[in-house]
Amino acid sequence: MECYKCQLKAVIKLQHGALCKSHFINYFEEKVFKTISKFKLINRDDNLCIATSGGKDSLTVLYLTKKYLQRNKLNNTLTALAVDEGIANYREKTLDDLKEFCQTHSVPLKIVSFEKAFMTLDEAQKKQIGKKPCNICGVWRRYLLNKHAKESKSTKLVTGHNLDDEAQVILMNIFKANTKLAGRIGPSSGIEEHDLFVQRVKPLYLCPEKEVRLYTLLKGFKVQYTECPYSQEGYRHYIQELLNSLENKYRGSKQGVINSFLELLPLIKEKEQGRVEKIQECNECGEAANQPTCNACKLMIILKK
Ligand code: SF4
Repeated sequence: MECYKCQLKAVIKLQHGALCKSHFINYFEEKVFKTISKFKLINRDDNLCIATSGGKDSLTVLYLTKKYLQRNKLNNTLTALAVDEGIANYREKTLDDLKEFCQTHSVPLKIVSFEKAFMTLDEAQKKQIGKKPCNICGVWRRYLLNKHAKESKSTKLVTGHNLDDEAQVILMNIFKANTKLAGRIGPSSGIEEHDLFVQRVKPLYLCPEKEVRLYTLLKGFKVQYTECPYSQEGYRHYIQELLNSLENKYRGSKQGVINSFLELLPLIKEKEQGRVEKIQECNECGEAANQPTCNACKLMIILKK
């Protein structure tokens, strides 16, 4: 298989043709930079906080956000924020890679933990409160990322969600008829700005997982490609398998989900505008909540019983 641009050996076959290593890297980086510009994900005066884990997506988004700033001669502040969920034999390895990566690329890194704020995920899941580990993890992770990004005066929280992640969330929301949440997803999150929330932006929104994986391999990033031991247990895993089998049979299915959603997003946001739940301070911790007690504190109350 030859690159359609230069006839060198191709490393990937895309819908518009096969690409060699250097043309693929160029194609991938341009796609990310165009996503940032098209969806106005970064403004000149933003303080950027990159949500990182040391996995392939977060290292890629960290590297390319920095490259985007350098290329456009932007002086935005850039820090990395990682959450240690307390998952034995998994997270410590990716955090080691992350520390090395941040040192090499001169990005300040802050690591916060479930253990300090709540309890480790391993401990929480042993208590068997009828919640899947991913549900607890998702609530606490979002909570800590928002809290610490806010404390460091960040105006944008940059995440490494890729096209596969987003297609999965869209389908999950459709299957659960959750249009409230659908209005909050997309390349940049949120319907209305609020002081208690830092807006999330996703530069890898249009990058399929297999392209991100190939990019990190070709760039030689030190990445653990192992999966979280809890990843097979959630609803998302079934959706992931469903989408992968659809994609194998009907190429372009994942992109189709994203394209359709982007067409509908303005309508969904408009519809949700008047129905936005009132955000208040949690009566336990003072963080953002749409009920008197936020979901993170509610979980702790159940776990302590
Ligand atoms: Fe957390 Fe689930 Fe992701 Fe593991 S797979 S890091 S438990 S959300």
